Amino acid sequence: MLGNSRNRSFVWRLSLFCLGLGTGAMGGLGGGDFARAQEGVYATIGTGSVSGVYYALGSAICRQMNQSRKEHGVNCSAEATEGSIYNIGQMRANEYNFSVVQSDWQYHAMTGSSKFREAGPYSELRAVFSAHPEPFTVLARAGTGITTFDDLKGKKVNLGPLDSGQRATTEALLKVMGWSLDDFAQVGTLNATDQSKALCDGEYDAIVYTVGHPNRSVGSAARSCDVAFVSVPADVVAKVLELGGYFSAVTIPIGTYREIEDPADTFGVRATLVTKASAPDDIVYALVKATFENLGDVKRMDRALGNLKPEEMVSEGLTAPLHPGARRYYEEVGLLPAAK
Ligand code: GLU
Repeated sequence: MLGNSRNRSFVWRLSLFCLGLGTGAMGGLGGGDFARAQEGVYATIGTGSVSGVYYALGSAICRQMNQSRKEHGVNCSAEATEGSIYNIGQMRANEYNFSVVQSDWQYHAMTGSSKFREAGPYSELRAVFSAHPEPFTVLARAGTGITTFDDLKGKKVNLGPLDSGQRATTEALLKVMGWSLDDFAQVGTLNATDQSKALCDGEYDAIVYTVGHPNRSVGSAARSCDVAFVSVPADVVAKVLELGGYFSAVTIPIGTYREIEDPADTFGVRATLVTKASAPDDIVYALVKATFENLGDVKRMDRALGNLKPEEMVSEGLTAPLHPGARRYYEEVGLLPAAK
């Protein structure tokens, strides 16, 4: 994670490529072209835990960006973070250029609601595209007596880092149910990497994670101890759907993990990529182009990304206005109708 020690104006940090190649290039190019060839633009993407899917997504996007660097000059790097709420805060603090965030928190950031009421509407926020679906996932260890959601009362539950998307979405869910965090015996803040071990070691009875499937965190718990998904009751899902269109009813199907026998009925959100209005159009365009033109490679980077569909990526789960650099690409390739 990037520190807050320096108050950077905006992170399109221009930095010289001083790799010894500079002087050679300098001799060959002149004027404005030369400046363009000499400078590297650094773009950062805020993601999530390294055991989640956001990190894989950010890394896959950056890989494509960096492979086509000659065309646009952008150095892209994915940062491991606490997740959605953290990423939005860091974007607002001008630390990240792009962030992966849950669609429910994109909505709340844009409208200044829920957790972002105090911060107010983040009107600079811009959507780039959406990615994989993220079911709200509850995984319980066998022997804890947890088979239904109600059984979580009085249990030790890991909800993820304080600024993770899953922690915030759980709080919204508890509110709908008339529960509070005090209904649990203990609330953990472990990240996705640590929670699997803690679950199997008996430190927690259940873990909650809003995440694409399959992922490393759930996979590692499933391989290490006997675990089962816990469904969210249908009447609760119905109430959650009333909160906003960014939620949908979803099922984690049988066979997602070899070791987990039963499916889970729950609700879900979408992972979305966001940036800010001040991001240069040509950089956002380059990122979108690199991603969409190499979507096959992006999908192969992580199994949870395997079902990405361009038509859904430009439409699902986006509440912030599309960044013009992204829109330009979608219109060019016919994914969106050209503006009149
Ligand atoms: N949905 C989680 C969050 O917003 C992150 C999931 C992941 O890292 O794949 O914090």
